[in-house]
Amino acid sequence: ATPTAVMVGTGVGASLGVLIKGGQALERTHKVNCIVFDKTGTLTIGKPVIVSTRLLKDMRPREFYELVAAAEVNSEHPLAKAIVEYAKKFRREEENPVWPEAQNFESITGQGVRAVVQNKEVLVGNERLMLERNVAISIDAEEILAETEALAQTGILVAIDKELIGIICISDPLKPGAGEVISILKSMKVKSIVVTGDNWGTAKSIAKEVGIDTVIAEAKPEHKAEKVKELQAEGNIVAMVGDGINDSPALVAADVGMAIGAGTDIAIEAADIVLMKSNLEDVINAIDLSRTTFLRIR
Ligand code: ADP
Ligand code: MG
Repeated sequence: ATPTAVMVGTGVGASLGVLIKGGQALERTHKVNCIVFDKTGTLTIGKPVIVSTRLLKDMRPREFYELVAAAEVNSEHPLAKAIVEYAKKFRREEENPVWPEAQNFESITGQGVRAVVQNKEVLVGNERLMLERNVAISIDAEEILAETEALAQTGILVAIDKELIGIICISDPLKPGAGEVISILKSMKVKSIVVTGDNWGTAKSIAKEVGIDTVIAEAKPEHKAEKVKELQAEGNIVAMVGDGINDSPALVAADVGMAIGAGTDIAIEAADIVLMKSNLEDVINAIDLSRTTFLRIR
């Protein structure tokens, strides 16, 4: 392609809301044969909704959510924000409730939070958090988790003084049209993979719903980047699509990093292409644009 063609290509991209940072990024994109998608906020809407609360012990929802919110109000995680918002429903002064004070707050990346509230140790997070902190998960709880994950929901466990008290079932639906995007990519001979920090059950359910066969779950940020490098070592030209801080190492490692415009600044900075409208269809538009520019297909 001539420099003029490349300029035209990036210009058309910009007018579509596909911000391409330079000619090299545009060029690499037409060779992509494999895309790694983050789950939360990329394939899914990223606005989690609490669908049910399964209390395992004799405790009032109001008291339960007061302790949970007191711990989670200190976390920046989207799941924490959704839980705190939901907890307000159980308060009389709904608007700006004052939660009990939390001491020794700890945020455990990829697992959840811990705090001491009203002299009780509160743990809110996934199964791994409970296992690492010696909280027993009963057979009943395992069953609820399996049901939750089969529905593509995430079960967040709550333990008070090492006793499992309840499970908060949270749904984060797929973006509309996500399935179509994956099937169009397939027809373009581009393979899709999901990589997420969420648990295996939920990840597999979401992948099935969207039509992706290959899933990597319970992945830390460095695992996401390792997966990209592994695919490259197998001879693939890999794009990574993500929105979070935890996606940035993988966005940098990929041949083409694509950030969701609504994502965090760190992801946007790490990416070669920014999908300003946060639409997954723009992944296809970016590839089409690059193919048109470099393969001279009309
Ligand atoms: P991702 O954004 O890819 O889902 P994260 O690493 O942010 O991955 O989180 C992985 C998992 O850790 C979440 O699905 C959740 O189960 C748990 N988790 C992380 N932070 C919190 C939190 N503040 N409250 C409850 N659970 C959390
Ligand atoms: Mg994400």
